[in-house]
Amino acid sequence: VSVVVACSKQTLQAPVSTKTSNPLDRKVDSVLNLMTLSEKVGQLNQYNGFWDITGPTPKEGQAAKKYDDLKKGLVGSMLNVKGVKDVRALQKIAVEETRLGIPLIFGFDVIHGYKTISPIPLAEAASWDLVAIKKSAAIAAEESAAVGLNWTFAPMVDVARDARWGRVMEGAGEDPFLGSKIAVARVQGFQGTDLAATNTILACAKHFAGYAFAESGRDYNTVDISESVLQNTIFPPFKAAADAGVRTFMNSFNELNGVPATGSAYLQREILKKDWNFDGFVVSDWGSINEMIPHGFAKDSKHAAELAINAGSDMDMESSAYVDHLVQLVKEGKVKEATINDAARRILKVKFELGLFDDPYKYCDENREKTTVGKQEFHDGVLDVAKKSIVLLKNKKNLLPLQKSGQKIAIIGALAADKTSPLGSWRIAADDNTAVSVIEGMQKYTGNQITYVKGADVAVGRTQFIWETNINMTDKSGFPEAVATAKKADVVVMVLGEHGLQSGEGRSRANIDLPGVQQELLEEVYKVNPNVVLVLNNGRPLALPWADENIPAIVEAWQLGTQSGNAIAQVLYGDYNPSGKLPMTFPRSVGQLPLYYNAKNTGRPTMNEPESVFWSHFIDEKNTPLYPFGHGLSYSKFEYSDLKLSANSFGVNGKIEVSVTLKNNSKIAGKEVVQLYIRDLIGSTTRPIKELKGFEMIELQPNESKKVTFTIDEKTIEYFTANRKWEAEAGDFKVFVGGSSATVLESSFQFVK
Ligand code: BGC
Repeated sequence: VSVVVACSKQTLQAPVSTKTSNPLDRKVDSVLNLMTLSEKVGQLNQYNGFWDITGPTPKEGQAAKKYDDLKKGLVGSMLNVKGVKDVRALQKIAVEETRLGIPLIFGFDVIHGYKTISPIPLAEAASWDLVAIKKSAAIAAEESAAVGLNWTFAPMVDVARDARWGRVMEGAGEDPFLGSKIAVARVQGFQGTDLAATNTILACAKHFAGYAFAESGRDYNTVDISESVLQNTIFPPFKAAADAGVRTFMNSFNELNGVPATGSAYLQREILKKDWNFDGFVVSDWGSINEMIPHGFAKDSKHAAELAINAGSDMDMESSAYVDHLVQLVKEGKVKEATINDAARRILKVKFELGLFDDPYKYCDENREKTTVGKQEFHDGVLDVAKKSIVLLKNKKNLLPLQKSGQKIAIIGALAADKTSPLGSWRIAADDNTAVSVIEGMQKYTGNQITYVKGADVAVGRTQFIWETNINMTDKSGFPEAVATAKKADVVVMVLGEHGLQSGEGRSRANIDLPGVQQELLEEVYKVNPNVVLVLNNGRPLALPWADENIPAIVEAWQLGTQSGNAIAQVLYGDYNPSGKLPMTFPRSVGQLPLYYNAKNTGRPTMNEPESVFWSHFIDEKNTPLYPFGHGLSYSKFEYSDLKLSANSFGVNGKIEVSVTLKNNSKIAGKEVVQLYIRDLIGSTTRPIKELKGFEMIELQPNESKKVTFTIDEKTIEYFTANRKWEAEAGDFKVFVGGSSATVLESSFQFVK
């Protein structure tokens, strides 16, 4: 038996090993058997796109070294290469000029779309619509596979509780249950059912682990958390992604309890590869192997390479530590050749799964690229999920929906005209000014009846990779015109929030208010016209207590991607009845952070006399959030009644059905996300006061009612207990059902063992 290796000029016939029974493993082994140690190490090396292939080949410096490595077969993957032409040119070098012709994998941060941009992931999470989220990932996969890519560094599945952290925009919010469901939807959307198909790409669950728990929300900062928090809160979405067949994991920049995640054998070998049986590969984060030097964990790059590979990091993104030192480390006996073999095997296996050994150019079809990128169908898909991502936070005075005629509307705020900010952070391939602005979206409804005034800037627009975007804008010269325009309008739509680059990597904020003078602008306008609809564009929860108290209607519209303005207009004018629910708590002030609904009680819980100094509280702020997790209104009016349990206890292998009646007591059809929470009253370790355990999106016609049913069994109540394992403990539980984590019906049950 033999296998043809790659599609190289020097195609090699390799004997197929018969040691393993799985045919794919046999193919992988037969390639491995042909490789020298340095070629195996080469597979573990990933370089950033280092050379503009339209120019001359690099002759000096880093680029020349990388080019040389590529030709020697010392590169396994590249990232940030854009477009079929470039991918093909680089693939050709790997396939035709290296000894074995092993194809490269091309990775890219397709975080919420390639060119056709979906809402930022946090916004999509607010849809609680797993079908729409999966579809959005599938669109991103098809578009990026058509430009030659095989692999996205997404989804980010870090559970995040601190809105100061800029990367909350990239995840699914604060809840491990919702986060797990969304992780699975995204993995399935990206990877589809056949990785070798030309409309799917590899997904990557990142950042393993604890990255979102950076102290004070400052990106890359120290992380120190208990095993219980890791297991019960942080691991579940990663585990769900692994179970859903995600083929790659990315480790993380942060240290976790004293050990950088990149050098953590506990995370990568014990939890991921042993406990979870993960057989894909782990890529380091960008340069995170060498970052173990400033962490004070590795003394130099060689030491960092040794620590990382032994801890289970299979591929080195951009540190050059593996390609420079692993061969020598094996010779010195510090790294076993078997360890290198294992890492190389994992990577080769994925290359086989992608079909790259059958045809390394299968993703390099210029015609497909032309006909696929920016397809109308993609725009329809991202518009659909964008509408569903909008959360109606408040709607008093019936200001919303707006009337399609006879209303004079003033639009105020720089973000209303912004065609770049709605694209948000992480949209490397999409050009500036390609989003539909709010003004453009609204003009379709009322044409010239709309007046627009900027009022004030949000931030200085910068390019995606210039970190300093949080320049405070102080110019109030636009205020008088804004105020005068507001006076003449029936309704003022104020589009305020963050610039698209005020969240994302390296963009933590110590203040989570409206940047610049936007808060003052809001107050000035409100003074002359209280009929304000505040439309928020932002990449994280904001603390806006004044707005909540005064502004009658508030719409959370995040950064919704290419179709942003159309989605917002459809919601404002009632063509889409808002159905989103917050995936993350909105605090009253930054000092409350971290603030999350599934918190624990203390020994000093809320008493009847909140003014007591002994209560766990702040003397200058409430404990409650501004908007709780799961909150979101509709133009319909939903009523919950009749919470019933099929029994008041269950035992091992048993279950209970929980049912509730949902009624749409309004004249407008709408959708509601019905949420099920439980509370485990006493545990071997202290338990959260509420935990989401189920949700269902229900669509109701005017005055229609439906019975909604959930099942509770052992899986629902199990957690990582004091026995250091996942199990269900006998005891008393509460169950809550409702339209948010705060407003709910309540009952109770027992689990008996
Ligand atoms: C980020 C990763 C990303 C990588 C590659 C890093 O800075 O933390 O999430 O995938 O860069 O661009």
